[in-house]
Amino acid sequence: MKSIKSVYKIGNGPSSSHTVGPYHAAETFGARYPDADAYRVTLFGSLAFTGEGHGTGKAIRTGLPGIEVIYNRDVPEHELPHPNTMLFKAFKDGTLVGSHRVFSIGGGSIRFENESSDEDLELYPQNNLSEILHLCHQRSVGLAQYLYRVEDPSIRTYLKTIWEAMKDSVRRGLAAEGILPGGLGIERKAKLLFEKRCYNESADVAMNRIIAAYAYAVSEENADEHIVVTAPTCGSCGVLPSVLYYMHYDRGFPEEEILDALAVAALFGNVIRTNASISGAECGCQAEIGSACSMAAAALATLYGLNTDQTEYAAEIAMEHNLGLTCDPVKGLVQIPCIERNAVAAMRAISSVNLSRFLYSTRKISFDEVVATMYQTGLDMNEKYRETSHGGLAVLYGADH
Ligand code: SF4
Repeated sequence: MKSIKSVYKIGNGPSSSHTVGPYHAAETFGARYPDADAYRVTLFGSLAFTGEGHGTGKAIRTGLPGIEVIYNRDVPEHELPHPNTMLFKAFKDGTLVGSHRVFSIGGGSIRFENESSDEDLELYPQNNLSEILHLCHQRSVGLAQYLYRVEDPSIRTYLKTIWEAMKDSVRRGLAAEGILPGGLGIERKAKLLFEKRCYNESADVAMNRIIAAYAYAVSEENADEHIVVTAPTCGSCGVLPSVLYYMHYDRGFPEEEILDALAVAALFGNVIRTNASISGAECGCQAEIGSACSMAAAALATLYGLNTDQTEYAAEIAMEHNLGLTCDPVKGLVQIPCIERNAVAAMRAISSVNLSRFLYSTRKISFDEVVATMYQTGLDMNEKYRETSHGGLAVLYGADH
């Protein structure tokens, strides 16, 4: 398994596979052909269908100013090597001087066809959670300790940088007001949610409202194309920061423990992307929100000091009840259903941990099994529900408005 360092990436929203990945692809391609005088990229598959709503063209032009962007919606997905395919070309005096196919493989990661990158380096001898848990039990170490033994010493600095970026995105989102871009006329709601207390609000209701406000804050920052952290994607970037921010600022958990929780969450995200997918274009929203919910549940279990089996069960519950979740963003924007869905997933992560505390010894389904199920379900899922905006809310909402 690869380093957890590529699970969290800092970049502009609204979509890790549609903005963060293409931005890096364009920048990298341009750097390879600095003497070219013209560049062109053709986008295929999900990038062509929802790229305009997701701001793919803008992200690409930021990475490589002046490039011509073409959306090709004629090639069926089954004829593409990857659902998010880009064909870059560089020209000099009208002659083609370079061409590469690049795939945006989810979570902001990219792959140039027939090439490997630093991100491809295998670091962990273990490839799934069963193997990791076996080793942890054998050596009597927790999941965070296990991870720190495998990663290089710079991992804590990396986690601190990520945590700072997550906190910034919550703060900015809570302070902002106004309408999100894209034409749906959606107002930002994080500030309202954070400030609006009900009369006689119970502690439970207050907790859910505040966590939801944090999740809205980050997801609205993402929808506004501002800086967020992929966790594991931009579309699902509000889930994990919201619960960590709450545990730090509202419940007083120290930063050192938050960083451990962030590390364990990344470990679960890493297992998912190794054995399945974190891409909505590949496996639907279960791969994005389901993964984020699992990661948040694992983080919370770590903060609560639950054992490794309880942590596994919390993450398993969180994924299991997101199975089959489709990706059908209205107008190709990462707003409906995405923003609200982040808040719901954050609350679900809490419920998952509460169940796992007491019921872990009765569980039948392992985390690895639910990840394999998510992947197979995603592969079986109709293309309409995999970030193409050809089905579900994207079609029904469009018909009425
Ligand atoms: S529906 Fe889910 S997978 Fe699709 S864009 Fe929204 S958050 Fe991402």
